[in-house]
Amino acid sequence: MNNDKIWLSSPHMGGNEQTYVQQAFDTNWVAPLGPNVTGLEQDLENYLNEEVFVGALSSGTAAIHLGLILLGVKAGDEVICQSMTFSASANPILYQGAVPVFIDSEPDTWNMCPDALEEAIKDRISKGKKPKAIIPVHLYGVPYKIDEIREVADRYGIPILEDSAEALGSAYKGRKCGTFGDISVLSFNGNKIITTSGGGAIVTKTRELKDRAVFFSTQSRDQAPHYQHSEIGYNYRMSNICAGIGRGQMEVLDKHVQARRGMHDFYLAAFEQVQGVNVFEVPNEDYYPNFWLTSIVVNPSETKGGKTREDFRLYLETLNIESRPLWKPMHLQPIFASYPYYGGKVSEKLFDDGLCLPSGSNMTQNDKDRMLEAIKVFFG
Ligand SMILES: *Cc1c(COP(=O)(O)O)cnc(C)c1O
Repeated sequence: MNNDKIWLSSPHMGGNEQTYVQQAFDTNWVAPLGPNVTGLEQDLENYLNEEVFVGALSSGTAAIHLGLILLGVKAGDEVICQSMTFSASANPILYQGAVPVFIDSEPDTWNMCPDALEEAIKDRISKGKKPKAIIPVHLYGVPYKIDEIREVADRYGIPILEDSAEALGSAYKGRKCGTFGDISVLSFNGNKIITTSGGGAIVTKTRELKDRAVFFSTQSRDQAPHYQHSEIGYNYRMSNICAGIGRGQMEVLDKHVQARRGMHDFYLAAFEQVQGVNVFEVPNEDYYPNFWLTSIVVNPSETKGGKTREDFRLYLETLNIESRPLWKPMHLQPIFASYPYYGGKVSEKLFDDGLCLPSGSNMTQNDKDRMLEAIKVFFG
């Protein structure tokens, strides 16, 4: 057995990426526009399989920022955001000078709790401010409670900015994640299910909104022979080189989803006999996750010898195997701690006991054998 580092999630090339990148060089489309950009947008629109419009951007974070701008979020506005997530879901709220309001998770999908969401909306309205947008997240590729969150959002007439950065290839009731928001966001960062080395996309329901996002992403240039600007611009467009990588990756996206789901099956079997460790599973068949990362919850009062998730993480580290605690909730982060929070301790408890395990679509049999051995030895 080799002892190479096993990563949580690393880039996995399909083979044709360089062909598209070569085409970009051959035609000198080395710019934040070109046939690969339009091609990738088309590929994604076809893949999402709904009446949607896709704008390729430099990152998922940029897409969230532009999403907030398109929804009219301005300084002093309040925006509701899932607390347990990557900080990139929430940072753009601050870019706009707006105020994040954080919501706890529910235990079934680990995503935004619909009850805490409604409680927050009612309370914010009673304090004189109706939130401008809701940002729920499909953590680790597991869809949030789509119907329940939509129902609450519609009852109060608040748009949803769907953070689908981790969930390309996931679906709920047969519909693809990335199509459930009034505006949705995808990421192609190096660790995501497919990568453009770095990149993201905004998904809209109308061509006008997509065009508006692209306008903002290319420095908000008015129609004029000189450079003229009536609005704040951003440099957020995807480059034609990165989009070339993305076109190659789209060819293997479904294979990657199958492989990641296979890793989830692998861990289900690996932990079946282990006391005090639960592999995270979805509530029912409506949920079709890409299982971007497979996660476990370690309950030290049930494990042999009271072993904790942190004991396991440190043990894996000695074997050159990367694992990571679940996202630390935003309401516990120094930068966000002073903002309003609604809910209980679901996400805090998950953060204490949860661990993400290596889940890449490129895990080899040797990698899996090392993981199995580690689990066997550590949990006895
Ligand atoms: C990765 C990620 C983002 C940000 O995407 P980038 O492309 O890295 O900017 C946003 N939200 C979540 C939940 C993510 O995992």
